[in-house]
Amino acid sequence: MLKKKNSILVTGGAGYIGSHVVEQLVKKKDNIIILDNLVTGFKKLTNKKAKFIKGDIKNTIIVNKILKKYNIDTIIHLAAYLNISEAEKSKKKYFINNILGTENLIKACQNTNVKNIIFSSSCSIYGNIQGAVSENKKPNPMSYYAYTKYKGENIIKKNSKKYNYRYAILRYFNVAGASPSKKIGEIESSHGHLFKNLAIQALKKYPVINIFGSDYKTKDGTCIRDYVHVSDLADAHIKCVELLQNKKKSLVLNYGYGKGYSVEDIVNIFKKIKKNCLINYKDRRPGDVAQVYANIKKSRKILNLKPRFNNIKKILQSSINWEKKLN
Ligand code: UDP
Repeated sequence: MLKKKNSILVTGGAGYIGSHVVEQLVKKKDNIIILDNLVTGFKKLTNKKAKFIKGDIKNTIIVNKILKKYNIDTIIHLAAYLNISEAEKSKKKYFINNILGTENLIKACQNTNVKNIIFSSSCSIYGNIQGAVSENKKPNPMSYYAYTKYKGENIIKKNSKKYNYRYAILRYFNVAGASPSKKIGEIESSHGHLFKNLAIQALKKYPVINIFGSDYKTKDGTCIRDYVHVSDLADAHIKCVELLQNKKKSLVLNYGYGKGYSVEDIVNIFKKIKKNCLINYKDRRPGDVAQVYANIKKSRKILNLKPRFNNIKKILQSSINWEKKLN
């Protein structure tokens, strides 16, 4: 059970993952505040039952005002730029937003009622790995985006004692799918995510699928990832809030299902839905690691949550259904 008294602030609550987190939160609690600058978020993804404030995490005045006015005791910090290839080209933009923005938000917690912080980190901080990766693997960020997430984690850990809060860092694996409510899903297509691209192609008469790289050292030469449904990931956030509020102990957890699928595995599933699709084998995409999937021992034990949507076909179908609705 979530504590009723105080409010929860969700930064980036108008984004793909943020909107799914808010959708779960408002079912349990009525004082949810969204702070989003709408640069990569969308107003239409914001939940009507939450209070929406358009603003930037880098704006100290707005952040301070919100923390005090709404008596925030928990922050779910998801606001970030997340385009891996853009980050390589625009490091300064990512440094300012993802690293300085996080620092600003954390500093604003001084002399407030904030007791719990949940942070969206990424499996990309591990770099290339062999076998299932556990939380105690030393981070080895290989892209600038991953570096900004790694730095974000450190800012949150470093200031925890000083500002007197507990934290939960969730290292997301590959997030896909859309809410069963059919009201929210991934809108932005410029990131080039596999499931988003497949969903877009599913609506075409003559779908074309690109497979980036077929010469990796994996079972079929294509990259391996651990895909999780966005609503299960949202449930994990709610559980982290409950754990921090009740057990008062900081956490670093992977969130994946613990099973790796190759791009070819996913495309083969897609081919059953769209039989006439054309497959193009392309060069490797810069910045991609060959394989990454989660060791979920720790997160299964601590979160004690049964995933509701752990079915790759259903995840793909939910992405396609959402895409139909968007068009
Ligand atoms: N990928 C692909 N075709 C696409 C989009 C992605 O082959 O149209 C591959 C990509 O190279 C990577 C995997 O699918 O190996 C997952 O990519 P995605 O962008 O979904 O997530 P990432 O792991 O990069 O965060």
